Amino acid sequence: MRDMKQDAERLLAGELSYLDYAAACAAEDARCADLVSDAPYWAMLQRARDEGKKIIYVSGPAPVELIYAFDCVPMSFDLLTPRLSENAALIPPLMRACELRANADVCRLSKAQIGTILVGDMGLRPDAYVAVPIPCDSACMAYMALAARVGAPTFQFDVPKRPGGRTLAYLAAQYDAFVAFLEKLTGKKLDQDALRARMALTNRAAALLAENAALRSARPCPLPSALNICNELTNAWGPTEEFCAQLEAEGALGKKRAAAGEGYCPGVERHRVVLLHNMLWRGLDYAAFLAEKYASAVVADGYSFGARAVFEHPEDPDACRETACRRLLDGATVHGTGANGQEMVDEVCRIITERGADVAIFMGSSGCRHEWAAARMLEETVQQRCGISMLSLDTDNTDPNYRGENEVRQALAEYMETVVR
Ligand code: SF4
Repeated sequence: MRDMKQDAERLLAGELSYLDYAAACAAEDARCADLVSDAPYWAMLQRARDEGKKIIYVSGPAPVELIYAFDCVPMSFDLLTPRLSENAALIPPLMRACELRANADVCRLSKAQIGTILVGDMGLRPDAYVAVPIPCDSACMAYMALAARVGAPTFQFDVPKRPGGRTLAYLAAQYDAFVAFLEKLTGKKLDQDALRARMALTNRAAALLAENAALRSARPCPLPSALNICNELTNAWGPTEEFCAQLEAEGALGKKRAAAGEGYCPGVERHRVVLLHNMLWRGLDYAAFLAEKYASAVVADGYSFGARAVFEHPEDPDACRETACRRLLDGATVHGTGANGQEMVDEVCRIITERGADVAIFMGSSGCRHEWAAARMLEETVQQRCGISMLSLDTDNTDPNYRGENEVRQALAEYMETVVR
């Protein structure tokens, strides 16, 4: 058991780096025993640092196939902050640093991200920073603040949320400019074979992800849903052999249990839960609580359930560039809900029906500017279309002090014991 307070003091004093801390937390995280883990991702970054590889800080769904093809390694803020956000003693000082020295108007997630650049030691020296903005003013301000302070060349995509030919052409020009940016940074030309190999890994990961997600339709459910975690890992680590190997191991265990008729809940599975949240690792704590106390399986998690485009014609560079641009569009959704309300309610109702869920819980982030309109829309639609009374609970995706774990468990218990029963 880690001493959070002592860890926070050492992190803020720069005696322990954020990278080494995230790596240690991930390696010790028993919650990931049967599921994909981020531990090998942080270990890969530590190795890259020791080998002197170029490190690129990344915000949002950047085209990481290109980054790996240039033999660079992406460090994702979207993975780092959720790891740090489990430490209740660390997040308040990080947010305070951001409020005092950068921007007091951004959300807690953005504040904590900016805080890591202002206080303590990242444990890496970035060679570049690339941001793919999501349609959120807080995220965009955070990216600007990070770009100004990161101390390395930056590249910022501009992704209009208007699908269509003109948008794709606009993104294609940016994609080419990003290739030129990486060529200048590394002093190398793009190796098309290396890129094709990375795109093939992205495709393989996407297929495995879909296959493993579908396993959660089995009764009883063989594994808790970890879609949220997989989505974030895909943005940073998708085109790697290690990620695919983890997905294969997770799938093998899920298939074995499904074939034996075993579920992950102890005893007979009584309820099937769709848990809409964006707290990555803490979501698994609540899945474990629901399983142990109420024999209820989390059969889907996250907010968006649509798949991103895959590289269907790896031999055709133009088709690949177009797919990469579609992936930029697919991936650039806000942390709460996705950009399109209709799409979101349709997806949530579809997943409830497909997975046979009888419980729906929305754990929105209090600090997120986009979530609460979504919660209202969802409550009404889920009730009308699926006949389920959805629990809406405000939590925080970054600051665990906002509503402690016990308080969340208590609210879940009240809902399970009153409305669901
Ligand atoms: S989408 Fe929400 S959580 Fe994400 S940066 Fe914007 S306000 Fe913050």
